[in-house]
Amino acid sequence: MTEKELLKDKYKLVLGLEVHLHLSTKKKMFCSCPAEIWEKEPNSLTCPTCLGLPGALPVPNKEAIRKTQLLGLALNSQVNKNTWFDRKHYFYPDLPKGYQISQYKNPLCLGGYIELDLGGKAEIDHVHLEEDVAKSLHLKDKTLLDFNKSGIPLVEIVTKPIFTEIKDAVEFCKKIQTIVRYLGIGNVDMEKGQMRLEANISLRTPQMEKDGKLADYKVEIKNINSFKFMEKAVLAEIQRQVELFENGETPMQENRGYDENSNVTVSQRSKEEANDYRYFPDPDIPPMVFDDNYISELKGELPELPYQLKERIVNTYKIPSNVALRLVYSLGPEIIKKFEVLVKSGLDANRVANTLINKKESHGLSESDFKKFIGVDKEAISKEALEEAVKNVLENNERAVLDLKGGKESALMFLVGQVMKETKGNIDPPKARELINKAIFG
Ligand SMILES: [Zn+2]
Repeated sequence: MTEKELLKDKYKLVLGLEVHLHLSTKKKMFCSCPAEIWEKEPNSLTCPTCLGLPGALPVPNKEAIRKTQLLGLALNSQVNKNTWFDRKHYFYPDLPKGYQISQYKNPLCLGGYIELDLGGKAEIDHVHLEEDVAKSLHLKDKTLLDFNKSGIPLVEIVTKPIFTEIKDAVEFCKKIQTIVRYLGIGNVDMEKGQMRLEANISLRTPQMEKDGKLADYKVEIKNINSFKFMEKAVLAEIQRQVELFENGETPMQENRGYDENSNVTVSQRSKEEANDYRYFPDPDIPPMVFDDNYISELKGELPELPYQLKERIVNTYKIPSNVALRLVYSLGPEIIKKFEVLVKSGLDANRVANTLINKKESHGLSESDFKKFIGVDKEAISKEALEEAVKNVLENNERAVLDLKGGKESALMFLVGQVMKETKGNIDPPKARELINKAIFG
């Protein structure tokens, strides 16, 4: 069932997102251990700081802070000039020091938004930076811990509870992923856990929506590691909440996980309120102050962003907006470069765009191979060679030329056929017609 069928006009979905992503930095967030951990021997990239040993002191990673601020600017957020790190207290085996260094009241970036394709803005509450925790590996009868992931710089983008449809939430996440890739600040490979999502879900009545009122609970679905998974998990949770309401009950505020096999969400723990975390500024890390110069320097570092690139491509190459969107958001900056080179070499922009979108095997081809691939190595023939071919045909077919001058249309058809033959099919008939007409009538 779709969300519409589940909600039956009786309920309205309220969905907020937390997008977590690893920054690609040389070092971890608060120590000098390498941050490239994929497929490394477990617990081989650790030190007293990221193991959470007593007495170890954190030193913030400037590169990570700068990259978070760049991301904030790309998301139309405000770079916070006075900010600091807080301790967020809770105990879990993957967090042995008993707190995570995170940000609470004064995150690095405030506000922001992304424009959605069908209009409307997906509003962002804030963007903050924290350290990731270790990885628990649950086996049958024991749990293993790998501290390589402990201390990886982790950005969290928190939206306002503004999504009313799952597809908008998916679009938002995909756009974030693309923006991060264009900025070159993270690989955001979901299969490697470099991007993870959490969805906050509640339902309200149409009247509450009209009055701008939110429900007094929300259910947080944790550890979503693919867009497909998010769609399924949110649908399953909507279904569960609708059923509760229909039975006269109200959903509890809690964290739930999605079980793909049974297609239901399962309770994990009742959700903490902020005061359960006993946040306070980390006394080991001084507050950070940024001035206008620093911020304008950062702005100068921003590359062309996907939404700007999309506008430019539509305006420069006159391709439809939806085609440009697919180019920019599903194919990425390298393919766009290729697109521009191919179009500038004389190929039709729409044709190149559609080939790149629909035929992935064309991505690795050289310029000349790409032309052969789409059957227009025709255009690889030089202008001179084409004109030479036309000249030959006209010289050898005086009768037809005279007929054409006399107004006989069929003579033109004949000559076009001869030019096609002369060029071994490497010219389009309309082009041949144009060249013949030009040669005869000027
Ligand atoms: Zn370390």
